[in-house]
Amino acid sequence: MISVTIAYFKVRTRHSCRVCGMRFMPSRRDQITCSSTCRQRLRRGGAFAYLADLSPRERVRERRDHAALDRDLADLRQEDRTLRAEARQRRQQRREAKRRDQLALVLGRVQLQQQEQQQERQHRHLLMSVAGGVALLAKQAGEITPAAIAAFLDDPLRFPEDEIASALAEMRASGEYEDEVARGVAMRGDANTDMD
Ligand SMILES: [Zn+2]
Repeated sequence: MISVTIAYFKVRTRHSCRVCGMRFMPSRRDQITCSSTCRQRLRRGGAFAYLADLSPRERVRERRDHAALDRDLADLRQEDRTLRAEARQRRQQRREAKRRDQLALVLGRVQLQQQEQQQERQHRHLLMSVAGGVALLAKQAGEITPAAIAAFLDDPLRFPEDEIASALAEMRASGEYEDEVARGVAMRGDANTDMD
């Protein structure tokens, strides 16, 4: 953010050196002496040394100019403090926004994990139910098709036929299908065994 104010322009114009009175253009905005020599003299109490050689009227005018410059410098320092505080606030707001984003990311990850666990549970439930259907149909020597298992499970919302078909394919691939068929066939002669 750019903030150039009247005080800034006033201090960046030519003014009299606080020690020797020479007019100079400050290269830094808080520069009130024309040179390093005058700066050292100022530190040793040399402020306004040049006024001694001036008329009372000139002295009054010079004093007034220096006082005005001091006020402008004070205004500028006050503006600096305000700008720094605003920048600090913006940095803090950015940090808070970043923290919120990170939190949302973590919460999103947790939610995703829970969804995956739920899907995994549902898939295991599907496999177990289809396995039961396969064994029962094998016991009854019926044709083992997705439609027949869907009819046995009788819950098309939880066990749609296409999901049953893919579960069957998965069971065939893992060898579980053959195990269930064997289990069903073994139960044919056993009247005491009840599938449900
Ligand atoms: Zn000087």
